[in-house]
Amino acid sequence: MSKCMQRDLQRLSADHFDVLIIGGGINGAWIALDAALRGLRTALVDKGDFGAATSAATGKMIHGGIRYLQHMALGRLKTSLHERMLLLRNAPHLVHPLPFLIPTSGHLLKGKEVLSLAMLIYDFFACRAVPGPPYAQIPPHQRLSRRETARLEPCLALEGLTGAVRFFDCQMPFPERLTLAVIQSAQEAGATVVNYAQATKILRDEMTVRGVRIRDQLAGDGFEIQAHCVVNATGPWADEILRAEGSSADPSATTAKQNRQFSKGIHIITRALTSGHGLALATRHQHSGAVLDRGGRHFFIVPWEGHSLVGTTNAPYEGDPDQKLVTEEDIQGLIADVNSVYPSAGLRREDVLFFYGGLYPDEPHQGAKGYQGARKDRIVDHGQGNVLHGLITVSGVKYTTGRRLAQMVVEMVFAKLQRPVLPCRTETAVLHGGDMPGMQAFLAAEQNRLAGILSVEEIDHLVRLYGTKISDVLETASENVANKTKRTADNLVMAQTRYAVRREMARKLTDVLFRRTRWGLFGHPGGDLLRHVADVMAEELAWDRARMEQEITEVEDCYHVVT
Ligand SMILES: Cc1cc2nc3c(=O)[nH]c(=O)nc-3n(C[C@H](O)[C@H](O)[C@H](O)COP(=O)(O)OP(=O)(O)OC[C@H]3O[C@@H](n4cnc5c(N)ncnc54)[C@H](O)[C@@H]3O)c2cc1C
Repeated sequence: MSKCMQRDLQRLSADHFDVLIIGGGINGAWIALDAALRGLRTALVDKGDFGAATSAATGKMIHGGIRYLQHMALGRLKTSLHERMLLLRNAPHLVHPLPFLIPTSGHLLKGKEVLSLAMLIYDFFACRAVPGPPYAQIPPHQRLSRRETARLEPCLALEGLTGAVRFFDCQMPFPERLTLAVIQSAQEAGATVVNYAQATKILRDEMTVRGVRIRDQLAGDGFEIQAHCVVNATGPWADEILRAEGSSADPSATTAKQNRQFSKGIHIITRALTSGHGLALATRHQHSGAVLDRGGRHFFIVPWEGHSLVGTTNAPYEGDPDQKLVTEEDIQGLIADVNSVYPSAGLRREDVLFFYGGLYPDEPHQGAKGYQGARKDRIVDHGQGNVLHGLITVSGVKYTTGRRLAQMVVEMVFAKLQRPVLPCRTETAVLHGGDMPGMQAFLAAEQNRLAGILSVEEIDHLVRLYGTKISDVLETASENVANKTKRTADNLVMAQTRYAVRREMARKLTDVLFRRTRWGLFGHPGGDLLRHVADVMAEELAWDRARMEQEITEVEDCYHVVT
């Protein structure tokens, strides 16, 4: 069995770390894995659950970066394609190719000619990305006639359609579990990782960082972590921690450039709107600044777990990142966008089963370009200008390229520690649960092995969540699941819940419903399931009735928009 994730506060407070990472989103996760693999004593804390913030609010795409062609940003295109191939190879259970259609109409920028040219460049760089195993090869694009397009996606038979370009990108159906897999791998490489531990203050000796003050969000206690170097990877909260009382790294006191502005992007999950292809569509409003501008703001309708995922939007946001983000107006706006360019969808409010929102950074003074705009990762060394030595702030703009960003950050950490830089090992690190000879081969073998014990759908579901750790899940609850005569769907729920608590550091009902499993992501899962999971967690974590009710209320609240 693989190592348990222990919420080891004792070790966190007793050890002296080379590097402490604040923030367990995808960027903090990769920094922790990279640092631990290079032999640094590494710790990571998150004030909530791992991967619960921006990294859970994505369009679930591992982007090859086709949109960079709009701006001819070939460097970023190459990086994205490279990182996409690495993820296909190192997390085959969590990242899969997905076919897309871009409908064409007329000529020039909206027509097939220009798009095909762009696609040739895309294919050229995709072939040259790091060589992947055969199962991770992505087919080149195809030009489709109007008739072929309508056959593949009948709803696209719109007036003026001349055809489409079909190409492949990649989907991570469950970004929450991909972030968790990186953190689990970091822990296996020696990092100490703890969720629900909020950094409240950066501690220093004169002008040098010496650690961080922490508040345990579950027990309410405070303690200190000692570290030579601190990486602030708190996404939209980056300025907040810098402003914390007593920290002279306050961005407003140093340079205004560190104050990032944010845009809000939302997604909705609906009944299935397409027949298996992702659609890249554009709203009717013009979006300036692109070399190859095909119209308004781009948005996607993407097949996801038998449903459709629609998004994203963008609107300037100046509120508190801790507040709920999605309003009824946001949802209605997105429905209107879909119906205006894809009327055959006939999308209605009651088709929206779930929604979520996230914040992306914008460049100051450039307006809200949103996720579609050209933006860059940012790494700030607070030691520059003698502000605070040993503190680095990281702001990443793309889930797909988090590994690459982490590599640069860890190199900076080595410089801060005044140690020779060791080679980065994350390119070849197979992530937790990903040690398999390709997803299809592994799935077929598991279907054989577990035939008669679990249904085909159950095996498929478990392999796509846990990869090769499916055996651990079944073993954890072997008394319930592996016994053919006793097995019921309830037993599987019990097994996954116990596994989440015992081995994956789930501490709240929301952790299990939204991030360890996907039970909560298709709309309200029903009172019976909620109570069943809460009962199992109560048994595991010694919750009393009041705590159970509070946990259930928190889950219910996730299905309500801002009021
Ligand atoms: C709407 C939208 C759609 C997107 N879609 C895609 C996509 O399809 N593909 C793609 O590649 N990229 C996508 N992105 C970009 C990508 O999601 C982000 O770049 C990435 O997730 C940022 O990760 P992060 O780790 O920096 O931040 P976060 O995921 O926000 O992590 C920061 C963490 O810090 C923690 N934290 C904050 N303060 C403290 C504190 N004081 N103490 C301890 N912990 C703290 C938070 O709890 C949080 O977990 C999208 C972004 C948005 C907004």
